[in-house]
Amino acid sequence: MVRPRLRRRVHGEFGATYFKPAGIPVRELETVSLTFDELEAVRLTDFEELYQADAAEKMNVSRQTLGNIVKSAHKKIAEALIKGMAIRIEGGTVEYMKNLYHCPECESTFPAGEGEENCPDCNSEKIEPVDLPGVDKPRKAR
Ligand SMILES: [Zn+2]
Repeated sequence: MVRPRLRRRVHGEFGATYFKPAGIPVRELETVSLTFDELEAVRLTDFEELYQADAAEKMNVSRQTLGNIVKSAHKKIAEALIKGMAIRIEGGTVEYMKNLYHCPECESTFPAGEGEENCPDCNSEKIEPVDLPGVDKPRKAR
């Protein structure tokens, strides 16, 4: 039996889940996938400027694991910046503290409040709640 990985807590709200270099069509771009736990680790240590030990506690992981997550995130972000790749934020073994929705039209994933009915990226109405492990599936308020 494989021991299930502990879920990493994500508290942050993120402004976007897809980034691309200007002037290059999406079809010609390579994409780096950054997971939500990696972005959260970057948010806590680089943006909020927390010590890694404090960030680790917030995410419910060991300090060493936090260090590894940050390192992996920095590597991916650096690769995207150096090579001119797109960055997509997706996945990760996380326990998200807010309701997450996914838009099948533009593949965007975003946190949304009760009653939100449109994708913030493409305005599609086809958004669906994301089924994350450990997170109660939010119902679309109608
Ligand atoms: Zn969309």
